[in-house]
Amino acid sequence: MTAPVVDVHDVRVWYAGPNGPVQAVDGVTFALRPGEVLGLVGESGCGKSTLGRGLMGLVPRGAAIDGDVEFDGRHLLGLSKKEREKIRGPGMALIFQEPMTRLDPLMKISDHFTEVLHVHEPKLSKSEMRDRALDALRSLGIPPTRYDNYPHEFSGGMRQRIMIALALALRPKFIIADEPTTALDVLVEAQILNILADIRQTYAPAILLITHNLGIVAEACDRVAVMYAGRIVEQGPVRDVFAKPRHPYTQALLRSTISLKTQELNSIAGAPPDLVRPPTGCRFHPRCAHAMQVCVDKLPPLIVEGVQQAECWLLASGLSEAQRRPLQREEVSVADEA
Ligand code: ADP
Repeated sequence: MTAPVVDVHDVRVWYAGPNGPVQAVDGVTFALRPGEVLGLVGESGCGKSTLGRGLMGLVPRGAAIDGDVEFDGRHLLGLSKKEREKIRGPGMALIFQEPMTRLDPLMKISDHFTEVLHVHEPKLSKSEMRDRALDALRSLGIPPTRYDNYPHEFSGGMRQRIMIALALALRPKFIIADEPTTALDVLVEAQILNILADIRQTYAPAILLITHNLGIVAEACDRVAVMYAGRIVEQGPVRDVFAKPRHPYTQALLRSTISLKTQELNSIAGAPPDLVRPPTGCRFHPRCAHAMQVCVDKLPPLIVEGVQQAECWLLASGLSEAQRRPLQREEVSVADEA
């Protein structure tokens, strides 16, 4: 098996907040091999974007990041900002949801490409830069005749494809795509997913695809990581996790998804917790129908079952009678308020 290109170990990100630090990412570990696509899912506010940006070293002023992100043999979190910026571009790229926030309205598309290529590959001649840019645009279905247009002359879907072309012109080994299709209609969404599939075929980057859409995960990802309240509670191959989810949160997420077979939609009662004072023990226990005493008292262990792994006391063996005692709903709300 090839070695991972990205190895993330026990990463934590805290934001400064008026009521104390927000533990947005709290001990995340995963690895990605070249060519692999990992879907990161979970409800809004569970820390997915914070994790994606944190891996690139992008945390706002006043936020803290800790743990280890090894990329291509280098430990990123120890590097200076300047050193990290050198790795971004040819090494890692982040694709955002809103392309207009990244494209400068006063610059033509050609100028955007020249700027990016000039910074990271200064040895390219002008005509080589142009060829490289036109290749990237063409692979995303943007005709060369539009090279000298301004961002506002394109539709939202085209701008998103231009953003992706800009990120891919440098052929990064690791791509973080944060809800890349959320603001787009389903046809453009399908195009972008096809493009990601093509890129995978041509040069096999590792891709972290952040999405709240489990259908996209089923279609575009090899593995899935389910995030709840700052932690990855389950991960494994998409086929295995979707066929037999181990964690009650994954089970609930899957039940809340619409498919052709859906007869009744089950939303998950409650909302993700306040990350300034998250629940004790398992962070999901206040919403879990199977919560036991031990789930309130202790952080659940990581249980590895073949290719799948989940953090849940239900999967652990050797619990005492007292630890297994089911929680009554009233106790859950009391525990939550404590
Ligand atoms: P997701 O991408 O899963 O929706 P986020 O990473 O955006 O989750 O947010 C995780 C948590 O961090 C949330 O509680 C959110 O309110 C908080 N958060 C996000 N950005 C900031 C910030 N800049 N300052 C303080 N808290 C933040």
